[in-house]
Amino acid sequence: MDNQDQLNNKEKYDQQRKEREQKRLNSDRLNKLKKKFGLALILVIVLFLSYRIYLSVKNNKSFNNNEPSDIISRDGIHWHSDLAIYIKGVKQEVSANLGIGIVHQPIHTHDTTGTLHLEKSGLVRKNDTRLSEFFRIWGKKFDSNCIFDTCQGSEGKVKLLVNGKENNEFQNYLMRDGDKIEIKFE
Ligand SMILES: [Zn+2]
Ligand SMILES: [Zn+2]
Repeated sequence: MDNQDQLNNKEKYDQQRKEREQKRLNSDRLNKLKKKFGLALILVIVLFLSYRIYLSVKNNKSFNNNEPSDIISRDGIHWHSDLAIYIKGVKQEVSANLGIGIVHQPIHTHDTTGTLHLEKSGLVRKNDTRLSEFFRIWGKKFDSNCIFDTCQGSEGKVKLLVNGKENNEFQNYLMRDGDKIEIKFE
Protein backbone atom coordinates (compact mmCIF):
# COMPACT_ATOMS: atom_id res chain seq x y z
CA MET A 1 0.00 0.00 0.00
CA ASP A 2 1.59 3.28 -1.04
CA ASN A 3 0.91 6.69 0.35
CA GLN A 4 -1.48 7.58 -2.40
CA ASP A 5 -3.60 4.54 -1.62
CA GLN A 6 -3.55 5.34 2.05
CA LEU A 7 -4.70 8.88 1.34
CA ASN A 8 -7.44 7.58 -0.90
CA ASN A 9 -8.52 5.21 1.81
CA LYS A 10 -8.57 7.98 4.35
CA GLU A 11 -10.56 10.17 1.98
CA LYS A 12 -12.97 7.33 1.37
CA TYR A 13 -13.28 6.79 5.09
CA ASP A 14 -13.87 10.49 5.69
CA GLN A 15 -16.35 10.57 2.90
CA GLN A 16 -18.28 7.62 4.37
CA ARG A 17 -18.17 9.17 7.82
CA LYS A 18 -19.54 12.42 6.43
CA GLU A 19 -22.29 10.56 4.61
CA ARG A 20 -23.21 8.67 7.77
CA GLU A 21 -23.21 11.91 9.72
CA GLN A 22 -25.38 13.51 7.08
CA LYS A 23 -27.80 10.58 7.18
CA ARG A 24 -28.00 10.81 10.96
CA LEU A 25 -28.66 14.54 10.74
CA ASN A 26 -31.29 13.98 8.09
CA SER A 27 -33.08 11.33 10.10
CA ASP A 28 -32.85 13.58 13.18
CA ARG A 29 -34.42 16.35 11.20
CA LEU A 30 -37.04 13.98 9.85
CA ASN A 31 -37.85 12.77 13.36
CA LYS A 32 -38.16 16.33 14.60
CA LEU A 33 -40.36 17.15 11.64
CA LYS A 34 -42.49 14.08 12.30
CA LYS A 35 -42.85 15.14 15.94
CA LYS A 36 -43.82 18.65 14.92
CA PHE A 37 -46.21 17.34 12.33
CA GLY A 38 -47.69 14.92 14.86
CA LEU A 39 -48.24 17.72 17.35
CA ALA A 40 -49.80 19.90 14.69
CA LEU A 41 -52.07 17.04 13.65
CA ILE A 42 -53.18 16.46 17.24
CA LEU A 43 -53.80 20.18 17.63
CA VAL A 44 -55.90 20.23 14.47
CA ILE A 45 -57.91 17.21 15.64
CA VAL A 46 -58.47 18.74 19.07
CA LEU A 47 -59.55 22.03 17.52
CA PHE A 48 -61.85 20.23 15.10
CA LEU A 49 -63.45 18.16 17.86
CA SER A 50 -63.88 21.22 20.08
CA TYR A 51 -65.55 23.00 17.22
CA ARG A 52 -67.88 20.05 16.63
CA ILE A 53 -68.79 19.94 20.33
CA TYR A 54 -69.32 23.70 20.32
CA LEU A 55 -71.60 23.38 17.30
CA SER A 56 -73.64 20.54 18.77
CA VAL A 57 -74.07 22.41 22.05
CA LYS A 58 -75.06 25.54 20.17
CA ASN A 59 -77.50 23.59 17.98
CA ASN A 60 -78.98 21.87 21.01
CA LYS A 61 -79.51 25.23 22.64
CA SER A 62 -81.32 26.70 19.70
CA PHE A 63 -83.23 23.41 19.38
CA ASN A 64 -84.31 23.69 23.02
CA ASN A 65 -85.33 27.26 22.45
CA ASN A 66 -87.71 26.06 19.79
CA GLU A 67 -89.84 23.00 20.31
CA PRO A 68 -87.86 19.93 21.32
CA SER A 69 -89.54 16.70 20.35
CA ASP A 70 -90.34 15.78 23.95
CA ILE A 71 -92.33 18.90 24.73
CA ILE A 72 -96.02 19.16 23.86
CA SER A 73 -96.66 22.59 25.33
CA ARG A 74 -94.86 25.21 27.37
CA ASP A 75 -97.91 26.84 28.79
CA GLY A 76 -100.23 24.10 29.73
CA ILE A 77 -103.05 22.13 28.15
CA HIS A 78 -106.61 21.32 29.07
CA TRP A 79 -107.70 18.65 26.64
CA HIS A 80 -110.36 15.98 26.79
CA SER A 81 -110.43 12.58 25.21
CA ASP A 82 -112.96 9.79 25.50
CA LEU A 83 -111.96 6.33 26.56
CA ALA A 84 -114.16 3.26 26.13
CA ILE A 85 -113.05 -0.26 27.00
CA TYR A 86 -114.82 -3.41 25.83
CA ILE A 87 -113.84 -6.88 26.86
CA LYS A 88 -115.61 -9.48 24.71
CA GLY A 89 -118.32 -6.97 23.96
CA VAL A 90 -118.88 -5.94 27.59
CA LYS A 91 -118.27 -2.27 28.32
CA GLN A 92 -115.94 -1.72 31.27
CA GLU A 93 -116.50 1.22 33.54
CA VAL A 94 -113.74 3.83 33.75
CA SER A 95 -113.55 4.83 37.40
CA ALA A 96 -114.36 8.34 38.56
CA ASN A 97 -111.86 10.62 40.27
CA LEU A 98 -108.76 8.82 39.08
CA GLY A 99 -105.67 10.96 39.55
CA ILE A 100 -107.57 13.42 41.74
CA GLY A 101 -105.76 14.39 44.90
CA ILE A 102 -104.21 17.40 46.55
CA VAL A 103 -102.38 17.73 43.27
CA HIS A 104 -104.32 16.56 40.21
CA GLN A 105 -102.40 14.23 37.95
CA PRO A 106 -101.91 15.49 34.37
CA ILE A 107 -104.47 12.87 33.30
CA HIS A 108 -107.50 12.43 35.50
CA THR A 109 -111.21 11.60 35.50
CA HIS A 110 -114.06 13.36 37.26
CA ASP A 111 -116.82 10.83 36.50
CA THR A 112 -117.46 7.43 34.96
CA THR A 113 -118.27 8.67 31.45
CA GLY A 114 -114.78 7.76 30.21
CA THR A 115 -113.84 11.38 29.66
CA LEU A 116 -110.16 11.79 30.39
CA HIS A 117 -109.03 15.27 31.38
CA LEU A 118 -105.54 16.02 30.16
CA GLU A 119 -104.92 19.04 32.27
CA LYS A 120 -101.61 20.48 33.27
CA SER A 121 -100.14 23.96 33.56
CA GLY A 122 -96.66 24.95 32.46
CA LEU A 123 -94.43 22.49 30.73
CA VAL A 124 -96.23 19.48 29.26
CA ARG A 125 -94.14 16.57 28.10
CA LYS A 126 -95.09 13.63 25.93
CA ASN A 127 -95.28 11.34 28.96
CA ASP A 128 -98.02 13.53 30.42
CA THR A 129 -100.34 12.63 27.55
CA ARG A 130 -99.33 9.02 27.06
CA LEU A 131 -102.07 6.43 27.44
CA SER A 132 -99.77 4.31 29.64
CA GLU A 133 -99.58 7.22 32.09
CA PHE A 134 -103.35 7.07 32.59
CA PHE A 135 -103.25 3.32 33.20
CA ARG A 136 -100.36 3.81 35.62
CA ILE A 137 -102.44 6.35 37.56
CA TRP A 138 -105.39 3.94 37.44
CA GLY A 139 -103.21 1.01 38.52
CA LYS A 140 -104.45 -1.21 35.68
CA LYS A 141 -102.67 -3.09 32.95
CA PHE A 142 -102.80 -2.09 29.30
CA ASP A 143 -100.44 -3.00 26.48
CA SER A 144 -100.56 -4.88 23.19
CA ASN A 145 -101.05 -8.13 25.11
CA CYS A 146 -103.36 -7.33 27.99
CA ILE A 147 -106.22 -5.09 29.02
CA PHE A 148 -106.67 -5.36 32.79
CA ASP A 149 -106.12 -9.04 33.52
CA THR A 150 -107.43 -10.23 30.18
CA CYS A 151 -104.52 -11.21 27.99
CA GLN A 152 -104.08 -12.39 24.43
CA GLY A 153 -104.91 -16.03 23.92
CA SER A 154 -107.51 -18.30 22.38
CA GLU A 155 -110.24 -15.91 23.61
CA GLY A 156 -109.01 -12.98 21.56
CA LYS A 157 -106.51 -10.15 21.43
CA VAL A 158 -106.17 -6.50 22.36
CA LYS A 159 -107.04 -3.82 19.82
CA LEU A 160 -106.63 -0.08 20.10
CA LEU A 161 -108.78 2.20 17.98
CA VAL A 162 -108.21 5.95 17.84
CA ASN A 163 -111.01 7.89 16.17
CA GLY A 164 -112.16 4.66 14.55
CA LYS A 165 -108.76 3.70 13.17
CA GLU A 166 -106.71 0.78 14.42
CA ASN A 167 -103.54 1.99 16.13
CA ASN A 168 -100.46 -0.08 16.86
CA GLU A 169 -98.95 2.21 19.47
CA PHE A 170 -101.11 0.78 22.25
CA GLN A 171 -99.86 2.08 25.64
CA ASN A 172 -97.41 4.43 23.92
CA TYR A 173 -100.13 6.38 22.15
CA LEU A 174 -99.97 10.12 22.83
CA MET A 175 -103.50 11.39 23.30
CA ARG A 176 -104.75 14.53 21.56
CA ASP A 177 -107.65 16.84 22.31
CA GLY A 178 -110.94 15.32 21.12
CA ASP A 179 -109.63 11.78 20.65
CA LYS A 180 -112.10 8.91 20.77
CA ILE A 181 -110.11 6.03 22.16
CA GLU A 182 -111.43 2.49 22.19
CA ILE A 183 -109.69 -0.49 23.67
CA LYS A 184 -111.24 -3.77 22.66
CA PHE A 185 -110.52 -7.32 23.54
CA GLU A 186 -112.17 -9.62 21.05
ZN1 LIG B 1 -111.42 19.00 31.98
ZN1 LIG C 1 -110.00 18.42 36.01
